[in-house]
Amino acid sequence: MKALTKNAISKKKCGFEICKPESEWRRELGERYGILRGSGTEPPFTGALLGNKKHGSYVCGACGNELFSSDSKFDSGTGWPSFFEPINRECVSLKRDVSHGMIRTEVLCARCGSHLGHHFEDGSRKSRFCMNSGALDFAEKNEKKKRKIKMLIHPLAGQILTFFLLFLI
Ligand SMILES: [Zn+2]
Repeated sequence: MKALTKNAISKKKCGFEICKPESEWRRELGERYGILRGSGTEPPFTGALLGNKKHGSYVCGACGNELFSSDSKFDSGTGWPSFFEPINRECVSLKRDVSHGMIRTEVLCARCGSHLGHHFEDGSRKSRFCMNSGALDFAEKNEKKKRKIKMLIHPLAGQILTFFLLFLI
């Protein structure tokens, strides 16, 4: 019974944890609304995150749900950011898509139901999550750590330099 209650709370009327009227999504997402809420596809080789090689995680552009790690990203040559696997199977929701005369698997954010891209089972690469760059945001890792190290090195370098200058004099 407890599990049922929990499910009822986490999944709302729309079938996802986050439900908002489309007018609210439209206002919040601006230009990204067409992809995330209208199942749109950006033109290939145009996405800002396509060539991103930084270390971090890719999150849902609508709700911030963590979806893919940079470790899973690869160059598929298709023109869209591609990943072998999501961070876990629970963060994305797969749905059969028969639009545009094709049978494909649509990938949705499991938390807010926004459209992210499609999943393919290829011959050479078994599993490929083909995402719209416009549906994702990127969160770089270790950014703060690096800055801290730099701050530590800076005064240390100053002290060493002073020591050498004193020694020379
Ligand atoms: Zn989301």
